[in-house]
Amino acid sequence: MTASSASHYDVIIIGAGAAGLMCAATAGYQGRRVLVVDHANKPGKKILMSGGGRCNFTNLNSTPANFLSDNPHYCISALKRYTPQDFLELVDRHGIEHEEKAPGQLFCRDSAKDILTMLLTECEWAGAEIRLKTAVTSVSEAGAGYRLKTGSGALTCESLVIATGGLSIPTMGATGFGYEIARQFGLEVLPTRAGLVPFTLQPELKTQLAPLAGISCPVDAECNRQHFREPMLVTHRGLSGPAMLQISSYWYPGDDISINLLPTRRIEDDLMGLRKQKPRTTVAQYLAEYLPKRFASAFNELHGWTGPLQEYKNADIETVAKTLGEWTIKPAGTEGYRTAEVTLGGVDTRQLSSKTMAVLDRPNLYFIGEVVDVTGHLGGHNFQWAWASGVAAGNVD
Ligand SMILES: Cc1cc2nc3c(=O)[nH]c(=O)nc-3n(C[C@H](O)[C@H](O)[C@H](O)COP(=O)(O)OP(=O)(O)OC[C@H]3O[C@@H](n4cnc5c(N)ncnc54)[C@H](O)[C@@H]3O)c2cc1C
Repeated sequence: MTASSASHYDVIIIGAGAAGLMCAATAGYQGRRVLVVDHANKPGKKILMSGGGRCNFTNLNSTPANFLSDNPHYCISALKRYTPQDFLELVDRHGIEHEEKAPGQLFCRDSAKDILTMLLTECEWAGAEIRLKTAVTSVSEAGAGYRLKTGSGALTCESLVIATGGLSIPTMGATGFGYEIARQFGLEVLPTRAGLVPFTLQPELKTQLAPLAGISCPVDAECNRQHFREPMLVTHRGLSGPAMLQISSYWYPGDDISINLLPTRRIEDDLMGLRKQKPRTTVAQYLAEYLPKRFASAFNELHGWTGPLQEYKNADIETVAKTLGEWTIKPAGTEGYRTAEVTLGGVDTRQLSSKTMAVLDRPNLYFIGEVVDVTGHLGGHNFQWAWASGVAAGNVD
């Protein structure tokens, strides 16, 4: 089949998610004939479920240090050229109300739907077409461009953009299709794993912590020399909350996680001081000053800390302080792609242009968004990468 007998576009984007829609609007405004295809029945499903339904759409403090990648400098250029402030201006132009829930983290005041509506409106204004329920079954070279086989006929294009995201939440339409295309064109795909994901625990600890499900406390979690001081949440399945989600991106099976339960205190000094000034105080009472009461008493019981501090020798106090400041756990695993917010790894960026997101020796094949080996911390960074990489690819004329 030739280009004239198939539907022909300047740009076809596979994936109507955050990166794909942003790229489509940008390329459309460049005057290009753009089509976005997605096998799902609705565009932007992850946008709708993000940020608890209110989409943490950017982070004003986003810097390249908030991203994990085997090639850490790759993301710098695109993030510099399309900043959180640029996206915020777009959000403001569309009159979307937002709020800063934590420092730098911007969420919709009403609903994540506002961000999706904004992107779809931009695509419409830019003349970009969106075709849903369209599964791409194969991609091949056709002249200087590409030919796509889909469930509803063939398509051809000059430029092809892969924006199919990662493997997380398969029930939302996630597939490894982007990685397959990358391999087909000779690109390396770095090993993928679930990131920003809750931990599961070994049966004994799981049973001990189960009664504490629902309790959250501020901690400092450390793994592989990375620290996050944020809340930790005990769940029926294990440990979650921002601190655990963040550290999960740095965790590998078999690694320990060290958790400081009282990150604002000098625990040993506190306990030594109390032993002198209020010798009848128990560790449980000390803990209850700073931790939710139920958590404090369960943790105390777990370690068998009974009796007043006056009965504790210096070595005992050191042990208690170390246990509280460096509570070390070895997770059984993570909940995996079923609940992970992101996929770490992916298309190796060493083979891509950091300016255009195109394959270095194939300037009309682009990879953007989560399919690429760039993964943000929790807090709006992942969407900022989707917007920035989408704009970088869409701006190429
Ligand atoms: C529960 C949850 C909450 C999140 N909350 C936030 C948040 O608040 N802030 C933040 O910054 N990030 C958040 N994220 C991460 C963020 O959603 C992703 O990083 C972002 O959506 C990635 O954008 P993308 O366009 O690369 O991929 P996606 O948004 O995943 O889009 C990929 C698209 O490709 C389509 N597709 C896949 N395979 C094929 C195929 N074979 N053929 C055709 N189409 C295909 C999919 O249907 C999908 O529409 C959250 C993620 C989850 C799962």
